[in-house]
Amino acid sequence: MARTALITGVTGQDGAYLSKLLLEKGYTVHGLVRRSSHSEVHAHRLQWLGIENDVQYHDGNLIDLSGLIRTVREVKPDEVYNLAAQSFVKSSWQQPILTSQVTANGVANILEAVRLEAPEARFYQASSSEMFGMIQEPQQSEKTPFYPRSPYAVAKLYGHWLTVNYRESFGLHASSGILFNHESPLRGLEFVTRKVTDAAARIKLGLAKTVQLGNLDAKRDWGHARDYVKAMWMMLQQPASDDYVVATGTMYTVRELCRLAFEAAELNYEDHVEVAEAFMRPAEVDVLFGNPAKAVAQLGWKAETTFPDMIAEMVQADLERHRRRL
Ligand code: NDP
Ligand code: GDP
Repeated sequence: MARTALITGVTGQDGAYLSKLLLEKGYTVHGLVRRSSHSEVHAHRLQWLGIENDVQYHDGNLIDLSGLIRTVREVKPDEVYNLAAQSFVKSSWQQPILTSQVTANGVANILEAVRLEAPEARFYQASSSEMFGMIQEPQQSEKTPFYPRSPYAVAKLYGHWLTVNYRESFGLHASSGILFNHESPLRGLEFVTRKVTDAAARIKLGLAKTVQLGNLDAKRDWGHARDYVKAMWMMLQQPASDDYVVATGTMYTVRELCRLAFEAAELNYEDHVEVAEAFMRPAEVDVLFGNPAKAVAQLGWKAETTFPDMIAEMVQADLERHRRRL
C-alpha cells in the first residue's frame, strides 16, 4: 500500500528534493506551508523540479501546536520529516527569539502532535553540524561533543536532544540526522555557496562587477542536497531509530569555493571578490568536517556528487536563470 509522508519545510531546498524522492518511490506527499501574502511563489523550488502539483499542501506553522495536531490527525502519516526551521545562522543573531520559537520549540510542537495523533509514525529531525560549532575533534562523528556557536545552533541542539528524549521516553521511532552543509541550485541565496555561484553568473553576464563576502578562510564539508535527502529516507527505513552524521568527509575553504565557481564561469575570483565586515559573524564556526562512517556502514548511504561538480551545476543553473530574465 502506498505510504504517506508529511514534510514540514516542504517549500525549502531539502523539502523540494525530498518530495521528489518520495514521489518517485510512490509515496503520497503532504507538505506544511506557512501562509504568506505571496502564495503564488511558495512552491518555486517544487516548480523547478516539476512537482508543484503533486504535493498536497496544508496551511500551518511550526509554532502553532493546535494546527499541527489537526494536520497530523488529517494526514495520518507513516513518516514525518521535520525540515522546517529558521535555518540561516547569521539571521539567528538578529532574531534569536524567533529562531528559538521555530527551530527549537517547533520541534517540541511537532513531536507532541506526532505522539498524540500518530505515535506509530516514523519521525525525522533535521539536526545540524552547526551543533559541533567550536569543534572538539578534528573530524566530527555521532560521538563528538557539541559546542554550539550561534542562537541557531543552540536551538538545533534542543531539537536534537528532544528527539532523542522522545525516542527514549515514549518509544517513538524518532531519528536525528546530523547533516553537514548541503547545497544545490535550490539553496537560498543568502548561503555562501549560492551567493557565490549566483554572483559568478551575474558577473559573467555583465549584470554585476563584484561580490562582497565575509570570512574566506572558513572551511566546510559541503555535499549535495539531492544526495542528503536519500539519507533522511534511509534512516526512517531502519528497524530502530538512531542518530547519524551525514557528510562527504571532504573539506574546502570559502576561498576554494570562489575559485571553483568563478572558474566554472571562466572568470578569476580575485578580480571580483571583496571582503566586507558586514558579512563576518559575531562568533564564527571556523571548520566543520564530518565522519559519515556510521551512515555508510549502517544505511549503505554515500555522497555521490563531488564538490567541484556540484558548484559547476549551481553556476550553470544560475547562468540559465539569469539568461532567461535578460
Ligand atoms: P530552507 O531554509 O531552504 O527551508 C526552510 C523551510 O522551513 C522553508 O520551507 C520555510 O518556509 C520553512 N519554515 C520556516 N519557518 C517556518 C515556520 N515557522 N513554520 C513552518 N515552516 C517554516 O532550509 P533547508 O531546506 O536548507 O534545510 C532543511 C532543514 O535542515 C532545516 O531545518 C535546516 O536548519 C536543516 N539543516 C540544513 C542544512 C543545510 O546545509 N541545508 C544543514 C543541516 C541542517 P518558507 O518557504 O515559507 O520560508
Ligand atoms: P552555515 O555553515 O550554515 O553558516 O552556512 P553559510 O553558507 O551561511 O556559511 C558558511 C561559511 O561561509 C560560514 O563560516 C560563513 O562565515 C562563511 N561566509 C563567508 N562569507 C559569507 C557570506 O557572504 N555569506 C554567508 N552566508 N557566509 C559567508
